[in-house]
Amino acid sequence: MSDKENRQLKGFNNFSKFLAIYLLIGISMLYMYQYFTRTQQVEISYSKFKSLLLEDKIKKCTISEKYISGVYLSKEGKEKRFITVAVNDPDLVKELQAHHVDFSGKVTNTWLTNLIFGWILPFGFLFFIWWLMTRKMRGTSGGLFGFGKGRFKVYLNEKPDVKFSDVAGAEEAKQEIQEIVEYLKDPQKYQRLGGRAPKGVLLVGAPGVGKTLFAKATAGEAGVPFISISGSEFIEMFVGVGASRVRDLFNEAKKLSPCIVFIDEIDTIGKSRAMSSLTSNDEREQTLNQLLAEMDGFDSSKGVIIMAATNRPEILDPALLRPGRFDRQIIVDKPDVKGREEIFKVHIKKIKIGGDVDIKKLAQMTPGLVGADIANIVNEAALLAARENADSVHMEHFEEAIERQIAGLKKKNKVISEEEKKRVAYHESGHAICAYLLPGADPVHKISIIPRGLSALGYTQQLPVDDRYLLTKEEMLDKVITLLGGRAAEELIFGSISTGAQNDLSRATDIVRAIVSQFGMDEKIGLMVVEEPTGPRFLSGDGFLARADKVSEKTKEMVDEEISRILKESYDRAKEILQNNRDKLEKLASELLKKEVINEEELKAIMEGDSGN
Ligand code: ADP
Ligand code: ZN
Repeated sequence: MSDKENRQLKGFNNFSKFLAIYLLIGISMLYMYQYFTRTQQVEISYSKFKSLLLEDKIKKCTISEKYISGVYLSKEGKEKRFITVAVNDPDLVKELQAHHVDFSGKVTNTWLTNLIFGWILPFGFLFFIWWLMTRKMRGTSGGLFGFGKGRFKVYLNEKPDVKFSDVAGAEEAKQEIQEIVEYLKDPQKYQRLGGRAPKGVLLVGAPGVGKTLFAKATAGEAGVPFISISGSEFIEMFVGVGASRVRDLFNEAKKLSPCIVFIDEIDTIGKSRAMSSLTSNDEREQTLNQLLAEMDGFDSSKGVIIMAATNRPEILDPALLRPGRFDRQIIVDKPDVKGREEIFKVHIKKIKIGGDVDIKKLAQMTPGLVGADIANIVNEAALLAARENADSVHMEHFEEAIERQIAGLKKKNKVISEEEKKRVAYHESGHAICAYLLPGADPVHKISIIPRGLSALGYTQQLPVDDRYLLTKEEMLDKVITLLGGRAAEELIFGSISTGAQNDLSRATDIVRAIVSQFGMDEKIGLMVVEEPTGPRFLSGDGFLARADKVSEKTKEMVDEEISRILKESYDRAKEILQNNRDKLEKLASELLKKEVINEEELKAIMEGDSGN
């Protein structure tokens, strides 16, 4: 937003300064050396020197290992300095004595030349190349010796002027963060009142949904400084830089506390160590360890809140999510129609629009787009209007801007087609209807066809009524049927199935496998436990997992048969349920296509409404 007001604490460009001085000294030393040794000297050959000696023209000389230098009398009778290369001449000393030349020996004084040519210049050159390279890699001038220092954007104006009102929608997230705001306003008071000091908040959401904006607004609401850095900025070509940057970051934060430290793209450093074992990356690991150590180390009463953002929470190292670290996770969803309308309103405030602009319609025209896209669209529309010298921004400008934005995203494969959207709507409706009608399935909390992340195009969120420790076989089967309901709906409506159900299938298979082989719930397999659950509890004793080895091949085959039989029967049951409620399926799907998100009450209204004559 108002980046002009965010002054950046610029790092000293120490290295380039250092380099300049270094080269300057080197070059001037070289010149000085040449001035004193060369310019006034005449270089003569050894034979010339010898003949001058015989002519008594040499007044004095200094003999070193490599050179003989001194003063001779020129033809005009002037004293001149000379230098000649020494040759192996054993008689020289005798001859010098015979001609009464004042001579002295000298230890070869080449240290200066050696220093300059052997060390200063090559090193200066190397440093120069290095500097060029690192500068290129960082894009901007980064201080080599100012590692990290001043590389964070610090919003020095005590209160970043972004407020929650600038963040449209995201009401749930705002409520969840309210506690942090209270804490930051007065950390001591908060703790006196008995609150446990929070430390880390992980914002999860697709790129452009406004995670950074939200973090900034949190600082704005609390009136505290905001320090931000991107995870990728920690990882440099030099090992150890990342860790030292983390240290600097936390030192800076302690000085500014209470404050918010925001780490964008935390997945670049926080990737699960197990996941990246193939390409072990010491630098990343060191950085991550340093981050964990700093988070554990600082006293949370100091009022430093670490906020981090990622769009791939599933790849994060579990260590990051432990209590006392990023133990609070806030999901920032892609906006639904209403959310997009709000976002349009926030951004349209900044421009002058014509009376024909229908914000509701704009929101309907931009399914799947996020806040950043909308900000772009408004900006682009204003530019288009300006280009036409229009007095204000009109609907046609918005329409053109939306088209451009969507075309741009299509190129990047980020927009789902109408056909796909329809399929997703039916798929999710299938889940929801099964869940609604089956007593053993968890009640539906929310159905959404707003794409979330890379794999899930939509989702049906079910919340268990209460924590359950015991499940009956019927309840488990109801869950399986619900999971298969998505695919069943696709088959029913489109006559074909898509790859969208893959996760459903593997979850359904897992449940059925447990029914058959762990819980003794299958008639054919009976009470025999074929497999133990492979939870971490069992990892300590190796004997537990080996049970499958003690099972005969025949039993294993039977287990497989039973699993596929139960899956098939559950799938047929799902199809039957949907067939009998086809009207509701159609209604729910079309409603979903319109609203994108449907909550519990809306689902209930559709399900309990007149059963479509
Ligand atoms: P992220 O950090 O999730 O990638 P950003 O916070 O950088 O997203 O969002 C980029 C821009 O998009 C913001 O600066 C803002 O202009 C706009 N934007 C995103 N979400 C919203 C929102 N909910 N309300 C208003 N503007 C938004
Ligand atoms: Zn599904």
